[in-house]
Amino acid sequence: VLFHLGEMITATASVSDEILELLGQEMNYQIQVVSPEEEDRELLGSFDISFGENHGGEEDLAARPPVVTVMGHVDHGKTRLLDTVRKANVRESESGGITQHIGAYQVPAELEGEERLITFIDTPGHEAFTAMRARGAKSTDIAIIVVAADDGVMPQTVEAINHAQAADVPIVVAVNKIDVEGANPAKVRQQLTEYNLVAEEYGGDTMFVDISAKQGTNIESLLEAVLLTADAALDLRANPDMEAQGVAIEAHLDRGRGPVATVLVQRGTLHVGDSIVAGDASGRVRRMLDEHGADITAATPSRPVQVIGFTSVPGAGDTFLVVDEDRVARQIADRRRARERNAELASRRKRVSLEDLDAALKETNTLNLIIKGDNSGTVEALEDALIKLDVGDEVELRVIHRGVGGITEGDINLAIADNVIVMGFNVRAEGKATELANREGVEIRYYSVIYQAIDEIEQALKGMLKPEY
Ligand code: GDP
Repeated sequence: VLFHLGEMITATASVSDEILELLGQEMNYQIQVVSPEEEDRELLGSFDISFGENHGGEEDLAARPPVVTVMGHVDHGKTRLLDTVRKANVRESESGGITQHIGAYQVPAELEGEERLITFIDTPGHEAFTAMRARGAKSTDIAIIVVAADDGVMPQTVEAINHAQAADVPIVVAVNKIDVEGANPAKVRQQLTEYNLVAEEYGGDTMFVDISAKQGTNIESLLEAVLLTADAALDLRANPDMEAQGVAIEAHLDRGRGPVATVLVQRGTLHVGDSIVAGDASGRVRRMLDEHGADITAATPSRPVQVIGFTSVPGAGDTFLVVDEDRVARQIADRRRARERNAELASRRKRVSLEDLDAALKETNTLNLIIKGDNSGTVEALEDALIKLDVGDEVELRVIHRGVGGITEGDINLAIADNVIVMGFNVRAEGKATELANREGVEIRYYSVIYQAIDEIEQALKGMLKPEY
């Protein structure tokens, strides 16, 4: 039927929603296409768990700290500012005064004699911001745009402003490097009027603060400006008395502790012992650590916290929620994983037209890869490098799946369907995965050096190693 509909695809390929509906009509079935969110809701509904909408009534809402992202042009001082703010607030007594990088941190700030908190996303640049937004997670309340006063507005400054404005996130401008000779903070103010950022002293409503991230000048004023902007523009409240929901900020596989994820609680309170699902990872919160490495037992709205207890590594930008039982968490994660796999397959596979059928049959000229590694940075770096390999038109390289963590049965199953080489970078295959791979003749290769991996794949592409695929 599909062939008659003009869809030249094989048994393991995915089809579009429209084609599914057509196929249904042709075969006298009624097809109902359900969105991932609807599916989750349905599943949760069958367990009678609130999801999404049920945030409690007006009376349940309590004030929460603003969550801030620092953006701006390269070298304008984003990293330095994040460091200065973080270090200015180290509590000497704890963990020998060392603050750890966990992806986000909270600092106290004073406004009109009242001590409040501000949460900083500890990753400079808008990549993190955009990645999270692309996944539908709104993680930021306020953007600090850093502009170096000796350099002025630059392309990435404009880009950052565009991102923040598109996301409807209020902006505070930090005019940095005022200690440098030739710094011209007035010029920055003048330049930014072009982007609808008019300083208060010029009659606008954007707060500009002149700082030196290097010397620690005016950092308190900047924090104050963040709080003032939050109070003026936003109503930051959340219900702390419900099961926690939020977003994963970063995650990696720790050799000793297993998957470790930093999550930002957005509503509700996260407790040790909670069953949790983030993206397609699930688990039970065994321990929670704050940015000082101290154990905490409960995390309220806007609190970033490192969570130990996931059985696999969630992705940055994945939303998380707490559910009643481990079983439910696992089911949701399983479904999401299957869904992601299907979407991945669908997006990776080219649509094949009649004319291409011939070529499609010769698709053995494609080297398909699955890349698994111990952290998302390496996996991305490896994928980027491999994609850039160019050995001519006859062979093509495709990465059909990538992820953080050990090689799983799921990866092998994917590999069987698609004639794939599975690459493990600083990770091993789980026992069952190895068995399955041996049984099905799936090739797994292990690496711990990037150039070696690239080299070998290049050789494989050139046909020198003649891998069996
Ligand atoms: P990023 O690319 O925006 O994260 O910029 P960095 O934070 O890495 O800063 C780039 C360079 O500018 C580094 O050498 C910093 O030490 C320096 N820098 C940052 N802030 C200041 C400042 O306020 N004054 C001076 N003089 N140098 C600064």
